[in-house]
Amino acid sequence: MKSLVILGSTGSIGTQALEVCRRDGYKVNGLAAGSNIELLEKQAREFSVKAVAVFQEEKAKELKIKLKDTDIKVLSGVDGVCEIASLPGDIALNAIVGIAGLRPTLSAIESGKDIALANKETLVTGGEIVNAKAKEKGVKILPVDSEHSAIFQSLQGSPEKSLSKILLTASGGPFFGKTRKELENVTVKEALNHPNWSMGAKITIDSATLMNKGLEVIEAVHLFGLPADKIEVLVHRQSIVHSGVEFSDGAVIAQLGTPDMRLPIQYALTYPQRSDYAFEHLSLADIGTLTFQKPDTDTFRCLPLCIEAITDGGLKPTVVNGANEQAVKLFLEGKIKFLQIAELVEKALHSVNNKKEFTLEDIFEADKKARQCVLSSL
Ligand code: NAD
Ligand code: MG
Repeated sequence: MKSLVILGSTGSIGTQALEVCRRDGYKVNGLAAGSNIELLEKQAREFSVKAVAVFQEEKAKELKIKLKDTDIKVLSGVDGVCEIASLPGDIALNAIVGIAGLRPTLSAIESGKDIALANKETLVTGGEIVNAKAKEKGVKILPVDSEHSAIFQSLQGSPEKSLSKILLTASGGPFFGKTRKELENVTVKEALNHPNWSMGAKITIDSATLMNKGLEVIEAVHLFGLPADKIEVLVHRQSIVHSGVEFSDGAVIAQLGTPDMRLPIQYALTYPQRSDYAFEHLSLADIGTLTFQKPDTDTFRCLPLCIEAITDGGLKPTVVNGANEQAVKLFLEGKIKFLQIAELVEKALHSVNNKKEFTLEDIFEADKKARQCVLSSL
């Protein structure tokens, strides 16, 4: 049985990953989270882990006291999270939200573990560096994002270089079909009300703006090596066709299933094998109709802005990502309106300087500048 470490274990993906581990008996060696120490303590005790890390130093101190009757080591800060990523094990499942996941992904690769990657911001910002490091260390990047898992599954057994196009599906989010006028005054509560998926707050807002789909186009470029103009985004309201591929002979293969992240999580852990799936199975007869249409890129500007960023390349994807992280935070705090998210992302994209050759430090610098650009625009 494989052993793992789980980063971001208290979040939506992290808790579902632990559900899969609990059911299938994976050994969990380490856990890391941002600040929710109550849940982290429970998880650490249940899975008898060797060590845990809490990003927030003060919270780590509190957790140390709570766990003092155990042998569990408590680490803190980004270094602590990276240490968890480097613990012995077969796979590091990264379910941290945001660019905060990038360094831990690199630490996990450095330690030779395969990566089950939910943290798409890792590839959006550090795709080139992460891919090069993974190649050097001979580790696999196994996608957990449902669309990328679907593409990965659709590609199994296909000859090299036969992929000609990716069909990336999008639910359209809670505001599908709305006009810009109708979006002017939408509330945080409305934006958090996703029709098909229950997820963390940041990705739920990203789904409402279609930023999530833009980040996923960039993620797909790095995972599958096709340029953005060979990735077709399709709004598919039912979230049953999780994405697909077109081969050079025109054949299209897609992966279908209920909208449940436990399947892509499970597949990343069992790959290249498949194991039994204990959750709800798909009944196409019950669903009846599957629909597909083009996204409204005039209303949902974040999607074309991400495509512009990956087409320009260099640090631009980091800039749109950083600006978006900052803008979403402000929106959730009630400090900006919904449509301002895209405006601020656009402003940063067109004002932060680009570099075609860059280091990890350049990425963090570009992220910082993008956030400053957003904050100085208020
Ligand atoms: P979430 O907000 O529910 O959970 C985030 C986790 O990261 C929490 O455990 C939090 O404590 C931890 N965290 C935050 N900052 C941290 C830091 N600096 N250091 C260490 N840990 C930190 O988010 P989520 O919905 O589970 O999403 C996680 C990632 O997976 C995101 O990148 C998201 O885009 C991706 N993803 C999520 C879903 C989904 O269904 N939720 C689907 C596809 C992809
Ligand atoms: Mg997705």
